Amino acid sequence: MNKIALLTSGGDSPGMNAAVRAIVKTCLFHNIVPIGIRDGYKGMVEGEMYEMKYSDVDNIIHTGGTILGSSRCLEFKNKETRITAINNLNQIGVEGLIVIGGDGTFTGASILSDEMGIPVIGIPGTIDNDIYGTDHTIGYDTALNTVIDAVDKIRDTASSHHRIFFIEVMGRHAGFIALNAAVASGAESVLIPEEIPDLNELVAQIQSQNKGKRSSIIIVAEGEQEGGSIELINKVAPMLEGYDLRPTVLGHIQRGGSPSAFDRILATRMGSYAVDLILEGQKGIMIGSDGDKLITTSLETAVKLHNTPDLERLRLLKKMLTRY
Ligand code: ADP
Repeated sequence: MNKIALLTSGGDSPGMNAAVRAIVKTCLFHNIVPIGIRDGYKGMVEGEMYEMKYSDVDNIIHTGGTILGSSRCLEFKNKETRITAINNLNQIGVEGLIVIGGDGTFTGASILSDEMGIPVIGIPGTIDNDIYGTDHTIGYDTALNTVIDAVDKIRDTASSHHRIFFIEVMGRHAGFIALNAAVASGAESVLIPEEIPDLNELVAQIQSQNKGKRSSIIIVAEGEQEGGSIELINKVAPMLEGYDLRPTVLGHIQRGGSPSAFDRILATRMGSYAVDLILEGQKGIMIGSDGDKLITTSLETAVKLHNTPDLERLRLLKKMLTRY
């Protein structure tokens, strides 16, 4: 084994750099040349690759984003485009490929794994935590903490001005961030894609909460079924006359920033393990976490199934809201 290539693809997440660092350092430990591919599958197609040195990964464990860059490369869905990319890797003698990304990235990786002769290993990097085969994806813990920090700040102003804030967080298809941010920030309600919301119940909840408290935080996943925080306010406003309803969309601050200790450790373990698995002759698999253990799932299964949050937490949230 002489050369292993690596790329980051799809939405960036905090901790991707820690994974890149771990892959590069583990390769160098085994006298393997790590080849960095720029901007995800786009760099593979365009031949944008370079030999990575120890110094390339100095001082990056604490940084957000990805030093390799990322992109959405829709042409990668075409077989001819993928053949060009595979030829580019073959030409420089790459013998293994590690991809860090989310669902879309693994769909591409799963197809590549069948089409190319070399082993492909996936590392889950996405703030959404919706990848099957892992308890945690790299970046989720950091994003959750960023959201909680923002909600705490908004609560200060909400309670001072007796306002009802509808805070929209990321999660187009999965409510992990919204649900757990609601539990951790003591929010009054949460709307997630996995549950059909009951707007009458939401209104009643706000009215009963505000008898004593006069401010509320409602966490809204961007993919919930009413269409997001602004739409939701438009729908409930006629039933909540006299209340000061405010939307806040947290947006891309949720993706950035220094990764948490949890994400740095997870990324370091997964990055190093990916190289070990290639050296063991494994291929077509994704690394995941199960409690404190690292596990593997076939890429094919990882893209077919989805991870969903524990809806028992909705009931937990309700228990925290009853006023006595
Ligand atoms: P994420 O990995 O965060 O889910 P995307 O859905 O944007 O992000 O996917 C990242 C990249 O994976 C895409 O830009 C594309 O290059 C590749 N990809 C996604 N779906 C496919 C597919 N069906 N076939 C081949 N490549 C794909």
